[in-house]
Amino acid sequence: MKIYLDGELVEKEDAKISVFDHGFLYGDGIFEGIRAYNGRVFRLKEHLERLWASAKGINLEIPINRKEMEKAIIKTLLANKLSDAYIRLIVTRGCGDLSLDPRNCAKPPSIVIITDQIKLYPEEFYEKGMEAITVSIRRIRQDSLSPNIKSLNYLNNILAKMQAVRSGVAEAIILNAEGYVVECTGDNIFIVKNEVIYTPSGSEGALIGITRDAVIELAKNRSKISVKEGRISLYDVYIADECFLTGTAAEIIPVVAVDSRTIGDGKPGRITTKLIKEFKSLARSSGTPIK
Ligand SMILES: *Cc1c(COP(=O)(O)O)cnc(C)c1O
Repeated sequence: MKIYLDGELVEKEDAKISVFDHGFLYGDGIFEGIRAYNGRVFRLKEHLERLWASAKGINLEIPINRKEMEKAIIKTLLANKLSDAYIRLIVTRGCGDLSLDPRNCAKPPSIVIITDQIKLYPEEFYEKGMEAITVSIRRIRQDSLSPNIKSLNYLNNILAKMQAVRSGVAEAIILNAEGYVVECTGDNIFIVKNEVIYTPSGSEGALIGITRDAVIELAKNRSKISVKEGRISLYDVYIADECFLTGTAAEIIPVVAVDSRTIGDGKPGRITTKLIKEFKSLARSSGTPIK
């Protein structure tokens, strides 16, 4: 497996970063998770736009431009002969000293691109649906840290994941400081009630996922189902007809039980199943060609 590291393609064993890199010391850096389907990178422009926005949010200057980043991603996919892949793009603050001050990071930020084939959850979950629980860990308030910065510090999400896993469930529903549903550990959440789709809005503290956007577009334009972004309570989730999660790594996954309550009839819902099908066909037929 070849890894892109600061302009070079190196073997996995040689893809190493200094212990003085502030990404390692402080989680000072940003990332994107991107997918390629059928020889095309899905919504690459949108992912790069969000990466550059995350960078601006933490005042980090990415040392190459978007076109060069696009080329670096394609080059890495080609080197690994991948046409269907998960792409992890990381930009760290770079090598500094033990102080927090990024001005002491002399080197330009490091860019890492890892391409691999991953499935976030077992295949069975995609077919039969999965279970989620609400955890006690709350989402960091967005007036402290914007959820839209995909930073290298995911402790909030990791603690939530650990709590779910401790309870024997693969995914956690995270609430905001006010106690409303925000999202899961790396996925956005949707519910369906009486043929209307609902999802927490950005102002509730949800990260605006690119898969989330694609699903909203498909629902509105292709299926003519109305989508409402707003405030969702746990009660709304419990009494929903359907529930599903979206994310680049997870793709679209049905949720059939939450906090020991069966959602709908306990099977992946009709609208969820339709959206999964439409998303697959959209992902396979659009995007930046790997060539
Ligand atoms: C990346 C991420 C998502 C999903 O966003 P996509 O762009 O669809 O991959 C959702 N929640 C969190 C916390 C994330 O980091």
